[in-house]
Amino acid sequence: MKNKNGPHKNLNLNVRGLGKSATIAISEKANSLMEHGVKVFKLGLGQSPFPVPEPVVEELRNNAHQKDYLQTQGLLALRKAIAHHHNQMYGLKSTAADVLIGPGSKELMFLLQLCYYGDLVIPTPAWVSYEPQAKIIGRPVNFMPTTFEDGWKIHSDHIREICHSDCTRPRIIVLNYPNNPSGTTYSNDELHAIAREAKRYEVILLSDEIYGQIHFQGKHISIATYYPEGTIISTGLSKWCGAGGWRLGCFVFPHSLKWLLDSMTAVASETYTSTSTPIQFAAVRAFQGGYTIEQYLAHVRRILSALGKKAAQMLRQAGARVAEPEGAFYLFPNFSPLNEKLARHNIYNSRDLCEYSLNEMSIAFLPGSEFGRPADELTARIAYVDFNGARALSASEHIPLAETLGDDFLDHFCRPALTGIERLCDWLTGL
Ligand code: GLU
Repeated sequence: MKNKNGPHKNLNLNVRGLGKSATIAISEKANSLMEHGVKVFKLGLGQSPFPVPEPVVEELRNNAHQKDYLQTQGLLALRKAIAHHHNQMYGLKSTAADVLIGPGSKELMFLLQLCYYGDLVIPTPAWVSYEPQAKIIGRPVNFMPTTFEDGWKIHSDHIREICHSDCTRPRIIVLNYPNNPSGTTYSNDELHAIAREAKRYEVILLSDEIYGQIHFQGKHISIATYYPEGTIISTGLSKWCGAGGWRLGCFVFPHSLKWLLDSMTAVASETYTSTSTPIQFAAVRAFQGGYTIEQYLAHVRRILSALGKKAAQMLRQAGARVAEPEGAFYLFPNFSPLNEKLARHNIYNSRDLCEYSLNEMSIAFLPGSEFGRPADELTARIAYVDFNGARALSASEHIPLAETLGDDFLDHFCRPALTGIERLCDWLTGL
C-alpha cells in the first residue's frame, strides 16, 4: 500500500523535515571537501583546538580498565568534585546530590526539556540546538532578540516583558555566556539585574556556562551566585578541557529542583543508562583543578583572546560590525554595512554569504539564521578554531604569562584560522 505520508513515511510530526544540526553538517561538509582534496578553512564547528590536559589524559589511561556501569546520576567522586569546584568558584552550597552527569550537556538539555513542562525562552543569537530540541519534544519556544548595540545580551527588561503579562506560566530561560555565537559575556552588575528579575517571576534559568572557564580574563561568575534557588548550571569538559569527543556534560541543580533532577535521572536510566565510566574517572581529575590545569587554562585563554581580538579588528577594518570578544572562540560579525556591495554578488542574506564563502573561497562558517536571527540579516558565526592547538600551547608556554601575544605569535601558530579570516577580509575589502 502506498504510504500517504509520502517521503516522510511514518516519521513523528515533530521531526519531519529535521536536518542534521548546522554545526555538525558544516563540519561534515568541510571534511568531505577536504577528503576530495579541497583545502577548507574550517571556521564552522565550535571545537576546541587544544589537547586535553596531560594529567586528565593520564587519568583516562589509568582507568581504561573500568568496565562496569556506573550510577545513572554519575560517579560519586565526580559529582563531589564538580560540586566542590562550583562552590569554590561561585560561593554555592552544592553537594554531590545536586549534580547530574550525562554524555554531553547537549543530551542533558534535551532531557531537561523532555521532563520540564513549560516554555523555553531563548535569547537570540543562540546556539543552534536549543530550538530544534524544543521542537523535537514539542515545547513552545519564545525568542528574545538582542542587538549588536547591547553586545548581543539580554537585560532585566527582557525578562519583565516576557513574564509580566502571564507571570504564572512555567518557563525556562536559557542564558549562555561567554556566549556562543557572539563571544560576549555578562558583567556582574548585568547578572545581578537579570537574577533579580528572574527571582521576581520565579522562572528557572538554564545557565549554559560551558565556556565559563574560557572567559579571557578568567573572571567568569555564575549567575547561580545571585539566584541559587532558580538556576541550573550546565557545563562539561568539551570546551575548556578540549574534550568534545569525550562527551561528558553535567548539570548542577539547586536543592529545590530535586524533583526535576530525579525525573531526568529516571529518563536517563531508560535511555543512556550511564555515562562512559573511564571518562567519568578522568573527569574527576579535570574538575579537581590545581596548578597544571590553571596554567593550561591561562595559556588557552591568552591564545584565544589574542586571536579573537585580532580577528574582530580585521573584520571591522573590512567593514563588518563586530562585538569585542570576551570569551569562548566565536565572533558574530554583522556584514550589513556592506549589503550593497554584497548584493552585486547576489548575496542578500547570511545563507547566501556562507554558501558563497564556502564555494568560492573554501571558508566554512555558519549563517546567523542558524542562530535564530532573521533570515535576511547579514550576520554569521565564525569559530576561530582552525589551528594546531597543541603547537600553539607549547609555544605559549615559553612566553611569560604577563606578556600579551602579538601578531608574530598569531602568524606562526594560529593558521589556518587566521588565513581564512584574512582571505575573507581581503575579499570584503576588495568588493
Ligand atoms: N557547540 C559547538 C558549536 O556550536 C559544537 C558542538 C555541537 O553543536 O553539538 O559549534
